Amino acid sequence: MTPLQNSAVTADSPESARCENCDAHVSRPFVRVFGDNEGTLHRCLECTTFRELQDGAGSHSHSHT
Ligand SMILES: [Zn+2]
Repeated sequence: MTPLQNSAVTADSPESARCENCDAHVSRPFVRVFGDNEGTLHRCLECTTFRELQDGAGSHSHSHT
């Protein structure tokens, strides 16, 4: 009789990750493509451009600015 048990799935899903820079929600495949080898995404489309991501912005902590 504890309906709360059904909502215990709200913890961090293995299908999701977050941007290190702005904490935006991103998908695992996105991190795999644009993040670094440790699964960390340093930039996402919320805080940089797609062009910057293609240039490696998501896998390096350095910035062009
Ligand atoms: Zn971001």
